Amino acid sequence: MKKKAFKAESKRLLDLMINSIYTNKDIFLREIISNASDAIDKLHYLSLTDKDIDIAKEEFKINISVDKEARKITISDNGIGMDEVELENNLGTICESGSRLFKLENEKKEDIDIIGQFGVGFYSAFMVASKIEVVSRKYGSKSAYKWVSDGVDGYTIEEASRDSFGTDIIIYLKEDSDECEYSNYLEDYKIKEIVKKYSDYITYPIIMPVTHEHLKEGSKDEYESHTEDETLNSMVPIWKKSASDVSEEEYNRFYTDTFYDYENPAHTFRNHVEGKCEFTSLLFIPSHAPYDYYQKDYEKGLQLYSNGVLIMDKCKELLPDHFNFVKGLVDSADVSLNISREILQQDKQVQLIAKSIEGKIKKELENMLENDREKYEKFYQNFGMQLKFGVYNDFGMYKDDLKDLLLFYSGKEKKMVTLKEYVSNMSKDQDKIYYACGETRDKIDMLPQVESFKDKEFEVLYLTDYIDEFALSMLREYDGKQFVNVASESVNLESDKEKKELDKENDKFKDMLSAMGKVLEGSVKEVKFTSRLKNHPVCISTRGSISIEMEKVINAMPTDEQVKAESILEINKDHPIAEKLKSLYTDNKEEFDKYTKVLYNEARLIEGLPVENPTELTNIICELLSK
Ligand code: ADP
Repeated sequence: MKKKAFKAESKRLLDLMINSIYTNKDIFLREIISNASDAIDKLHYLSLTDKDIDIAKEEFKINISVDKEARKITISDNGIGMDEVELENNLGTICESGSRLFKLENEKKEDIDIIGQFGVGFYSAFMVASKIEVVSRKYGSKSAYKWVSDGVDGYTIEEASRDSFGTDIIIYLKEDSDECEYSNYLEDYKIKEIVKKYSDYITYPIIMPVTHEHLKEGSKDEYESHTEDETLNSMVPIWKKSASDVSEEEYNRFYTDTFYDYENPAHTFRNHVEGKCEFTSLLFIPSHAPYDYYQKDYEKGLQLYSNGVLIMDKCKELLPDHFNFVKGLVDSADVSLNISREILQQDKQVQLIAKSIEGKIKKELENMLENDREKYEKFYQNFGMQLKFGVYNDFGMYKDDLKDLLLFYSGKEKKMVTLKEYVSNMSKDQDKIYYACGETRDKIDMLPQVESFKDKEFEVLYLTDYIDEFALSMLREYDGKQFVNVASESVNLESDKEKKELDKENDKFKDMLSAMGKVLEGSVKEVKFTSRLKNHPVCISTRGSISIEMEKVINAMPTDEQVKAESILEINKDHPIAEKLKSLYTDNKEEFDKYTKVLYNEARLIEGLPVENPTELTNIICELLSK
């Protein structure tokens, strides 16, 4: 028989397990039992949906037996089983949970209690085993196979025999050492304790023969023992236990085990709905974004159970995109077991549940925002982006549902504020909601256009996520107040008197300004004087619905669509440079053109835009400097 080597990644995981000094080795049993339960789930599900398979739910079980002499523990299930190819593929190659572990291991090696917090699957048994045998017979097949490995030298697969379908996992315990007394795992009490702690909610009975000793009848010192099968788990799924019986710790453990997170959830909520459609939901908001959250292949969804039977692991129809970070499950007797992925979308019950769940999540978030601001802000740091996408996507279909969950940084308050808070803080002579965009809060804070708002003590929202302005433009207004970019041409904070003066100035120098416009043709729509800049000489404002930030974002997208914001170069009418330009216009046309170009590019740099023609600009600057 040929020994096969493990694939490279599997080998690394195995080494990690074999040499693990992880103190909580107990979890190996949880992993093996969880696999057994999954395998039974699969067959149970088939039996419910396929008339030819007739197995009553009561027949399913997981048996644990211990052989102290041989130092082995056997965990047997009558689940779906594995054929030769599956043994090879599932146990010879690293499995999903393993690869998840690696991604994590590579990222933040030091501080994570990787093994304990993570579902590391079958391989974790090598923390306690010197050898593992897996004997399995696939349901519907006559032959059984045995997979054997000591972890180090690879594995073998050979034909074997097994009376019926299902799988035995046989774990040969390592010899005791200073560091760990593996023999503990041969004791009934130890196994009972581990099962109770980690696998209580498994829905099939976990049965073990337990030996009880008691005094012989009529005797004072003679003992006799008898052995009987005991069911070690309560089998009540956590969401079916009465809420008062479940501790936060239990929910947390259920969450980390089921959804493979190494951190406890930030928020847990459970709900039972009766009426047109009855269901129970148990939902979690993770305390950090999953490693693949912002990648394309992140799959949203909730587990879907039909009266305790798992029918789907990630039912995406149950969650709207804007709440795609929520993890958890829904259990409803009203959902047909035979429901297929294809018809899920049209299923009335599923639609009803999804609607109700969406409302519930929204309520929970609103409550959190109102009652635990710190927690909400942390949540928002992790998933706020998704809410903003939610406002923008689907042509704004969900904007009204989500607008009150948004937070933006207020430059004045120096903290995150809701739109409602912004509006209630508005001063009497303010009728719009102002915002400014930029890469960082610091950069925005230094924008010339922001200055005059600070003077007036108007609150400006500092937007740093590229989606922000798109979300606001989708909202258009909040509470009747329009959103206005401080860099937009239409902002006018001037008094009527100031405005008149400005108009006069623009009129008086209109030839000069249009001459500047000519020099910058193709780059700006217009050049004009402004009174909105305090200390800065120039700025770029935009006309119409596309701002400079939006231009950057849209043009960076991998589509052919290219847009151009309508830019206006504004010159501070009170800045010395204004006088300089006026005199150059009459005295030195050539130099006037150069000044125009320098000023335009200066404004671009302040906006965080690239210089259009760096060589030309640097030549001009050098020339002017050497005068
Ligand atoms: P995971 O459970 O995360 O997929 P594991 O390493 O624990 O990873 O298991 C790998 C695969 O081996 C499982 O996905 C399953 O297909 C198969 N397997 C493990 N144990 C059993 C079992 N008792 N019965 C049937 N299949 C099993």
